[in-house]
Amino acid sequence: DPYMSESLAKLVKLVQDYCSFKFKKMQIDFTFEMENPYLELECRLSEMTQVFVNLIINACDAIKDLDERWIRIKVAELDDQLEIHVIDSGFGIEAEVADKIFNPFYTTKPVGQGTGLGLSIVTSIVEGHQGSLRLDSGQAHTCFIIRLPKKQK
Ligand code: ADP
Ligand code: MG
Repeated sequence: DPYMSESLAKLVKLVQDYCSFKFKKMQIDFTFEMENPYLELECRLSEMTQVFVNLIINACDAIKDLDERWIRIKVAELDDQLEIHVIDSGFGIEAEVADKIFNPFYTTKPVGQGTGLGLSIVTSIVEGHQGSLRLDSGQAHTCFIIRLPKKQK
């Protein structure tokens, strides 16, 4: 899987195709908001797909018993970076838990339902693309923020 220039729209389409059965089954409203669908990313497509699928599966797990079930991906264009917010209808993550979620093998899920490796994998892929991942704790809803370098012109 080589690094290639991929449009964000193509990436999201892949992610959506991959998750659409789950969204339908769990009645989750998925929306993707971006001002510029032609934004391009220099990335390994299969790895970047995994990033979003991992975050989305976590979000699905977190909201499955809530009355309101939605997942929103928002893309903002900064000077030389893209900032991608993955937000779900959950109400954030308690501070004591939030401190540990990026540790490999840390999971709050029942045995057999979580490996605790998802966020570690996401972090290493994003960092391998010269980006970063963090949890935004200042929001009413759970929000993970990915930053990635914009494609050089
Ligand atoms: P796993 O999903 O196997 O538990 P992860 O590394 O993907 O492992 O996530 C670690 C933990 O982070 C989860 O068990 C959960 O407690 C927390 N977490 C991750 N994403 C969310 C989210 N969107 N909402 C609430 N908690 C989350
Ligand atoms: Mg996970």
